[in-house]
Amino acid sequence: MKRIVVLGGGVIGTMHAYFALKAGFEVVQVERDPEALSASVRNFGLIWVSGRETGAELALAIRARALWQKVGSEANIGFRGNGSLTVAQTDSEFAVLQEAAAMPDAQERGFELLHKNEVQKLEPLLNGKYVGALRCTQDGAVEPAMLFVGLREALLKNPNYTWIPNFEAVDFENNETGNHISNAQGVTVSGDYMVHCPGAAHTGFLADFMADAPLRKVFLQMGATIPIAEKLGHSLADTDSLRYYPAFKKLSLDQLPPQSKVASEHKMQLLLAPRFDGSFTIGDTHLYEEPFSHEIVEEPYKHLLDVINSIFGRDFEVGKRWSGIYSQTIGGDLYYRNEIAPGAVIVTGGGGRGNTLSPAIAEETITSWEK
Ligand SMILES: Cc1cc2nc3c(=O)[nH]c(=O)nc-3n(C[C@H](O)[C@H](O)[C@H](O)COP(=O)(O)OP(=O)(O)OC[C@H]3O[C@@H](n4cnc5c(N)ncnc54)[C@H](O)[C@@H]3O)c2cc1C
Repeated sequence: MKRIVVLGGGVIGTMHAYFALKAGFEVVQVERDPEALSASVRNFGLIWVSGRETGAELALAIRARALWQKVGSEANIGFRGNGSLTVAQTDSEFAVLQEAAAMPDAQERGFELLHKNEVQKLEPLLNGKYVGALRCTQDGAVEPAMLFVGLREALLKNPNYTWIPNFEAVDFENNETGNHISNAQGVTVSGDYMVHCPGAAHTGFLADFMADAPLRKVFLQMGATIPIAEKLGHSLADTDSLRYYPAFKKLSLDQLPPQSKVASEHKMQLLLAPRFDGSFTIGDTHLYEEPFSHEIVEEPYKHLLDVINSIFGRDFEVGKRWSGIYSQTIGGDLYYRNEIAPGAVIVTGGGGRGNTLSPAIAEETITSWEK
């Protein structure tokens, strides 16, 4: 049985481990932290098909959505196909949503235009000021807090899986016996194949291979509202999201009301994912220039609360704040894959869609390797 070594315990690495085991490989997965602590647990947990660009990106997202559904039926990760609502608060925003609902691939995306009374039938909690919403039935979500517990539990049931936390790889070698990584203590882990999934850690021994990679890092601010007793089913977005997602670039975005000063300065959109504990994960901001600040700024949270309070018609408070960094390709590729030696690749750069695409990205790697 051939062995695959996976570097990185984030969602990209863990999906590689998951699909490699299913394909009949032996898998050893190493992670420098005790458990994933980076982008993959700081995100919304959204599986966001709605905004993907027509063509290859949408096709990969739809494939990934189907794989998530399967993984969700096998592991306790809080997967649900809850759908999303992109909410229009003015008539001109609603007119742009109408265009979106008429896009040629609207059906593939599961788009449906809803007036306020129809939204309220689905989501009685949304009692504020809005005209209607674009529903996307293809969008889904997982619980980031459950994802790695659930996946690990499923992986560890397979005797061909080994999990090595607290292992920071500092060196890589390819020779006639295969691919090898070692840590600072000189412990080496070897395999026939190796997939490095370091997320935004474009550093250490990987820096040599990634010096000219078309990648950038992006810094985001996030938060969670204080839990409420009532439940919201759908994830939500505001129409600022239409400005950023490539699916909508041909719509009459100039008809949208001007973006607020704070949203424009921090390159914001509202995304909201309901959590099982009754809180909502909310965000986000985008900062592209390094070095990133160590500070969390308050203004964006006030903006997010204003938008949410106005859509729900009640007041929320932020209970938790955090930041996260992801790695994003800046060329036309959907993600970054670089073969650094025979049977050894680096896979990262999925950007703000990395959680969404992760199972399909892993499938592409694994099916390229012979058993
Ligand atoms: C705030 C935020 C919100 C987001 N929201 C969404 C969303 O809702 N939907 C979506 O689709 N995407 C979202 N994304 C993007 C998505 O989270 C990322 O694309 C994805 O998590 C990247 O996964 P990864 O495994 O490549 O990276 P990471 O999660 O960063 O994992 C990489 C892992 O590799 C480990 N590692 C690095 N170097 C070494 C080494 N030398 N040795 C051992 N281990 C090492 C790290 O410790 C880390 O655990 C969001 C990202 C952020 C930051």
